[in-house]
This record gives sequence, C-alpha cells and structure tokens, in this order.
Amino acid sequence: MKINADLHLHSKYSMACSSKMDLPTIAEEAAKKGIDLVATGDCIHPLWLKEIKKAAIDDETILIGKTNFTITTEIEDCNRVHHLLILPSISKAEELAELMEKHGNLSSDGRPTVRLNGCQIAEIAKDVGALIGPCHAFTPWTAIYAYHDSLRSCYGDMTDYISFLELGLSADSHYADRISELHDLTFLSNSDAHSPWSNKLAREFNQLEVNEISFDGLKNAILRKNNCKVTMNIGFYPQEGKYNESACIKCFTHYTLHESISNNWKCRECGGRVKKGVMDRINELADLPEPKHPDHRPEYVHLVPLSEIIMMALKHASITTKGVQTAWSSLIKRFGTELEVLLYAKEQDMAFVDKRIIDAIIAFREERVILHPGGGGKYGWIELPEDNEPISDASGKNQSSLFDF
Ligand SMILES: [Zn+2]
Ligand SMILES: [Zn+2]
Repeated sequence: MKINADLHLHSKYSMACSSKMDLPTIAEEAAKKGIDLVATGDCIHPLWLKEIKKAAIDDETILIGKTNFTITTEIEDCNRVHHLLILPSISKAEELAELMEKHGNLSSDGRPTVRLNGCQIAEIAKDVGALIGPCHAFTPWTAIYAYHDSLRSCYGDMTDYISFLELGLSADSHYADRISELHDLTFLSNSDAHSPWSNKLAREFNQLEVNEISFDGLKNAILRKNNCKVTMNIGFYPQEGKYNESACIKCFTHYTLHESISNNWKCRECGGRVKKGVMDRINELADLPEPKHPDHRPEYVHLVPLSEIIMMALKHASITTKGVQTAWSSLIKRFGTELEVLLYAKEQDMAFVDKRIIDAIIAFREERVILHPGGGGKYGWIELPEDNEPISDASGKNQSSLFDF
C-alpha cells in the first residue's frame, strides 16, 4: 500500500516552535494534507514523551483519528551536526532518553544537544534499534556537509549503519545524486515543521510503499526490503530554500562561488558575511558533473503548499485571507487531500474555483514556474509564468513573495 509520510518535525517543546504543535493538532492538520504517517519529533524530551505515552494505544502504536505517528527525535552532536533518529517504540525512546541524558540536558530543548559525535550517536541509535541519518544534509549550518566532506568523516566506523539522508529544503535528488557516496542511501524529504499549518507541516514529504503502517513497515521502506521503498520524494524546488545560492547573511546580495572566494566571503555591499549556498557546496562535493540516479532512486516531484499556490494565483498578501482559505477549504472538501488537488485533480473537476487558481496548479504540475533562488537565510520565491497572466494585465506584476510574510 502507498502512504504519505512526513518524518521530521518539532513539538511545542522545541525552540521557536508554535504552541499548537501538540499531537491532536498535528494529527488533524496532517489528515487534511493527506499525510498518513507523521513524526512525533522530540521523543526524548521528558514532557513531550509523557504526552506521546498518554496518546499511545500501545508501546508501538500512536494513532489519532486517521493519523499514525512514528516516534522520532532530532539530536545535535558536539560538532553541531543534526541527526534524525526513528525509534521502534516508546520503550526504546525511554531507553534512548536514559542513554542520552548522561551527555546533555534533554529538558532544555525538544531538539537536544549532546556531547557526543556522529559516530557515537549512531552507535547508541543502533543499540536501541533506531534508524539514523543526517538532517537537512547540505544546509550551511548544523548539517553534516557544513562541517564534513564525507559521511565517514562524520560517522566513522558506523557509516555503514546510516540508512538515509534528509535532503532539506534547499536540495533535491538531482543535487544529491552528483555525490557517489550517497547513491546507496535512501533520500528523505521532510518538512522539519515548527508549526502545524498547511504551509509548514508536510511542505516536503515522502510517498512510501509499505506492507503495514508501523515501524517495521517504515524500516523496510527505508532499507528497501520486502518490496517496500520510498516511491516518491515531494518537496520544494531547491531554489526556494533559504540557502540555495551563496549570499550575504545581512543584506542578501547573491554571489557566485568565484566572486565569494575572491571577496574572501565578505559582502561587497555591506561588509557582512557571505554564507556558502547549497548549490555551491554541492559543486564542491560532487564527483559527478551530472546527477547519476541509482536504480532505486524514486522520482522527485517539486511542489509547494496548495495555500501558497492559491495565494499567488489570487495575488493575496497572505495565506490567511478569506479568499485563500475559502478556496483551499472547498478544494480539500471536494478532493479529500491537498496532494490529490496538487497532483491528480482534473482541470474540469476544479472548475468551481477561480480559473487563476486552476491555471496556477497546472503551471506547477508542468514545472512552468519561474524560480528566484534564495540565499543568505532568505527564502527564494516563485513567479507564475507569463501566460498565466490575464490578458488585460500583462504588466508583469504578478510577482508574489511566497514565503516572506
Ligand atoms: Zn535540524
Ligand atoms: Zn551584504
């Protein structure tokens, strides 16, 4: 059976997270988006773990409404690299918490920092039967390739135990498959959401073929066993990410790699620090000039949240306007889930909403949108193509800042 899964998010106990990141709200919002399996996040935070236990049906099953939860946590190592751990059960999460609390304060943040390196965390993950891989692998902070040039440099002898890599918002499989050492890994595309609303939760997600919705089902899919696998990665265009191109972290002026090096990573405009973008980092790391996808690699589909497509089409300033919300709700009501609308709904069946919305959905499906890369910590943005412009207004003012509101 095919399911949709978002395997990385944070609870209300993580820094800078919405107080609405509680299990019932996450479950409800995930269902609206067509997500069957969603991460608990933060599973070794004492208070959050209590809430997980309270909501659980048994040691391995957490099901609220139609939404299943898988037990996960993100951990920051002593070199600032973030790792995602997926746990088999609540009791294993408790075991992990016991092992980790010797090395860091678990109650200060839902995503704890521990005095262990990547190899040591992977050893503990193996001991408790957890799956582990690097999070948002290419971002220039708190990620494996920000501080290491290879998997082995981070995970040492435990490298073979690493089963997946999370691409992060600024990269897709075309980027990552230019690095041969990653060809054996399963790629995950997750939201890393800090709030439950439809433009954050499952803004990236995975479609999986599983035999059952359980840890074993998920494990088989990630390890590509028993005919289970990831069948699709769905996520942002890498250009939309905050760190796609190299850019100044103060004034966001973009630079090529060549310019950045010759300016010694200082901004010519304001003297600020130029942060190396994911694209340039991939170019440095890549041993292949073009991506070479291994046979097991699924398709990567570029999508943006439906509410943001509607906002762009209607030229509204926010996704919270009545117009956007009404159109979003009526499409969800008719087709069930956001994914159904974005990927499969027939044009004529959507005729009850504004034509501009349908044209925009089709433009995204056909990848006809114009991309303006992000960098330096500022998200990129997308423009609808010229022919989506109504004939009466061909002024080219159909630009809409997608994410900076
Ligand atoms: Zn992280
Ligand atoms: Zn600057």
